[in-house]
Amino acid sequence: MKKSYSNILTFNRKTLGKTINYLKNGNVAALPTETVYGLGGNAYKESSVLKIFNLKGRPKSNPLIIHYYNLYDAINDIEINEYFLKLYKQFCPGPITFILNKKIHTKINHLASAKLKTVAVRFPKHKIIRSILKKIDFPLAMPSANKSENISPVCAEDVFDEFKNKVRIIMDGGKCKIGLESTVIDLTNIPEILRPGIINKNLIEKVLKLKFKKKAINKIVKSPGMMKKHYSPGIPVLINQKKHDEKSAFIYLGSRYQNKKKFFSLSKKSNLNEAASNLYKIFRIIKKKGYKKIQICKIPNKGSGIAINDRIKRASQTL
Ligand code: AMP
Ligand code: MG
Repeated sequence: MKKSYSNILTFNRKTLGKTINYLKNGNVAALPTETVYGLGGNAYKESSVLKIFNLKGRPKSNPLIIHYYNLYDAINDIEINEYFLKLYKQFCPGPITFILNKKIHTKINHLASAKLKTVAVRFPKHKIIRSILKKIDFPLAMPSANKSENISPVCAEDVFDEFKNKVRIIMDGGKCKIGLESTVIDLTNIPEILRPGIINKNLIEKVLKLKFKKKAINKIVKSPGMMKKHYSPGIPVLINQKKHDEKSAFIYLGSRYQNKKKFFSLSKKSNLNEAASNLYKIFRIIKKKGYKKIQICKIPNKGSGIAINDRIKRASQTL
């Protein structure tokens, strides 16, 4: 199957070299991370950053996450603090994004961070993205590799679905292990989770030895890009559903409806991490099958369930 897409590359020394040159020349490539696939380009170069915004159709007011190999590479761009160092030590490289103040003499292109004084930085873990970041001397501005407001791609073919041949290089890194976007935490003041992810509030509280205030979690206004409607599969999504409506596809946890058509389990064992990793895949399958509506059962609001609920709630917004 994969072989039929000329722009999906199998990872090897040759394609790694090709991709690195492509990025060095200011181009934009789709690259795998452990969360979702990203659309990466030189974060120091305005023309590369503009290509990303244009391809995605992303509003310029929505800043991009800047990806580095390690802290050493980022140190001239960001103001670090105690909270950051604790979380970095514990979780990086990994699926967590930090909002920090920019250094005055940062080289990050001002459009990449939507002209803000702050910047979102991440140190991804996937071995392919790390092998690329290690060999280039600039960080990658890299939002998810989907058109603005759509759901994020979790395999190379999903990226192809979004952009066809408009993205010339899609590096194949297999199915993303996590399958949901990174946790976003603002560390410019008292720590605040702006987007829940697999690194959840309890894990962060333990490391920082603090308790988040209830209302401080997922305060949408703080993050310019977190419009309510986002992560949308393009058909109506209804959440907290109990009864199946014949016309729709029904997403649930467990194995109760195993042999029934129209029923899709996020995890047969009701494991919330597995459920998170399958959510976008199942959204795409359902859409491809031609269903006009998605119903989702109630998902426990704990652990990775918090991130799942955040995404499906946004997917269910009609405005
Ligand atoms: P994406 O790149 O699509 O995974 O989304 C990145 C998220 O991080 C968006 O929702 C942005 O609004 C958010 N973000 C990026 N930079 C900042 C920043 N400086 N302050 C607050 N949120 C940010
Ligand atoms: Mg995105």
